[in-house]
Amino acid sequence: MIRLNNVHKSYGTGSNSLHVLKGINLEIEEGGFVSIMGSSGSGKSTLLNILGILDNYDEGSYYLNGMLVKEMSEKKAAQLRNEMLGFVFQSFNLISFKNAMENVALPLYYQGVSRKKRNKIAHEYLDKLGLLSWAEHMPNELSGGQKQRVAIARSLITQPKIIVADEPTGALDTSTSYEVMEILKEINEDGITVVIVTHEHDIAAMTRQIIRLKDGIISEIIKNGDLKQWKHQYSKELEIA
Ligand code: ATP
Ligand code: MG
Repeated sequence: MIRLNNVHKSYGTGSNSLHVLKGINLEIEEGGFVSIMGSSGSGKSTLLNILGILDNYDEGSYYLNGMLVKEMSEKKAAQLRNEMLGFVFQSFNLISFKNAMENVALPLYYQGVSRKKRNKIAHEYLDKLGLLSWAEHMPNELSGGQKQRVAIARSLITQPKIIVADEPTGALDTSTSYEVMEILKEINEDGITVVIVTHEHDIAAMTRQIIRLKDGIISEIIKNGDLKQWKHQYSKELEIA
């Protein structure tokens, strides 16, 4: 469903230009559960933003469900984003002056769904994520884990096929991180493709495929069966580094 061929991306122009992605080749199957790893500045967010059609690429091709993303009109791209994709961020990106339920319902507001209907649906998703009793609370009254669950509920409300999450556990403590990963795992088991960026190899090891970005290309793809071996090798590399 996701296919990238020789994708390049640079920021800036001329002598200030920074070539971040230098030929990404990647396939992610429908129902995949994938993490993207790599050092800071290696281009993980850049790649995720391209996958989520939040940013353009310069060269190569990106096919989403067989459609070439580059040749799409902005209107078609926005439609795909709304229909296919859900987004989760490290800093939750909740609207501070709206309560949990209103935050979850926001994508439906943009789709023009009536208040009564969107609140009813938002309640269902809050319930699904164990947040029903927090519906009327404002974001500053919620813990980090609760905020991320609200953000996940919001990402699910439009029934996306793919969730892209940029360091979804980056602002959370270890046990809350695992809770959030368990939720993403359940979402994946419901058939939604989940692509995350993470720095932590224990978090990455909860996904079924790990993609390592290095020097602008994918240096390694590790499938679930090899994760144990990879963790061993990776911790050794960390010791050396
Ligand atoms: P981190 O782990 O720190 O989040 P990352 O792997 O997500 O890093 P990116 O955010 O994709 O890295 O950035 C890759 C490189 O591109 C960095 O050197 C960054 O400074 C640069 N960069 C990212 N976004 C822009 C932008 N909008 N304009 C100019 N340079 C950018
Ligand atoms: Mg990043």
